Amino acid sequence: MAQKIPILSLTFEELTLQLKTQFGKGDYHAAAIMREIFLHGQSNVSHAREFIRSGNLACQIMDALEILTLPMVQQEQDDGVIKWTSRLPDGHCIESVIIPMTYHHTLCISSQVGCRMGCRFCQTGQMGFIRHLTTEEIVAQVYTAIFQQNIPIRNIVFMGMGEPLDNFDPVIKAIHVLTDPRGFDFPKKYITLSTAGHVPGIQKLSASDLKSIHLAISINAPNDTLRDQLMPINRKFPLSSLQTALADYPLKSKGILFIEYVLIKDVNDSNEHADQLANFVAPLRVRINVIPYNARPGISYKPPSSETLNRFCHRLIERKLYVRKRASKGRRVMAACGQLGSEAGAGI
Ligand code: SAH
Ligand code: SF4
Repeated sequence: MAQKIPILSLTFEELTLQLKTQFGKGDYHAAAIMREIFLHGQSNVSHAREFIRSGNLACQIMDALEILTLPMVQQEQDDGVIKWTSRLPDGHCIESVIIPMTYHHTLCISSQVGCRMGCRFCQTGQMGFIRHLTTEEIVAQVYTAIFQQNIPIRNIVFMGMGEPLDNFDPVIKAIHVLTDPRGFDFPKKYITLSTAGHVPGIQKLSASDLKSIHLAISINAPNDTLRDQLMPINRKFPLSSLQTALADYPLKSKGILFIEYVLIKDVNDSNEHADQLANFVAPLRVRINVIPYNARPGISYKPPSSETLNRFCHRLIERKLYVRKRASKGRRVMAACGQLGSEAGAGI
């Protein structure tokens, strides 16, 4: 029997090679398959003009192709936000979220089951690390959103469960699959990867051909003492090393880094914290997204009041920084940042 071809995990070059080995065909048919499956959501390619005179070949190829589908085990909606839980082939579950924006939709995807970074304020961090996702499982979340949820997606953000740079190779390969012009054709500028500050990963990304995707860095604490407590990754990669890696990041001429700052009542919300944050970003070209902490059951942290949020942002604006308050949609269904990874969503 022909070897199965896991199409969601293949680049154009790899698919071409597989077709050559198994069927003696090449890039002409590979391009047709990618277009039909990734762009048009077809599960059969026999109607495509490239196969019209070779129905047998189309059937054989369709038998060999495998489009990973992740059964949806739960789905919730709030504020137009759709959060769904998918079951992976080994029984573990992950969550993905579609967020409606004014003119388009953003899809938030997971890169790991759980996360080993252990950030104190984050639901995913508290569930611990279970395993990395494969490229196929990452791309399958996008395929599901577009062709099963039937939502046209413009932006993809790696802000779901997991630390994407801790799963570097599968994540990078997924971005190659998603941005290939012959397939999904997502422009790199509509993809954002968010990291807790994985310095070697940032350096590897700087050296890759994907540096034109957006990079978001979750700072959340503007001095090492507090960051060591809130985000254990800081003990390995302290703020000074993170700042150097970011200053060296090869931004395009109008490119900026996104700095994410989760504002937690009485923890990181003073004027002094704002000043320290402003000092940290001073050598960098950034936009700061201030995100009010999303409450989680069993954790004593609290969201800031709207006065505190405004005061904190204003203090940064006074330092001539470009600041955005980011509304967290989907709180009721635990679909907002840092709320992914509920017990129901994490178990086998
Ligand atoms: N691991 C990556 C991406 C996933 S977390 C990272 O940390 O950047 C996505 C975002 O959710 C991060 O900016 C993180 O700081 C934020 N976040 C985590 N817990 C949160 C919470 N309880 N409330 C609001 N944002 C939270
Ligand atoms: Fe992991 Fe990001 Fe959550 Fe930290 S904030 S535990 S890095 S998912």
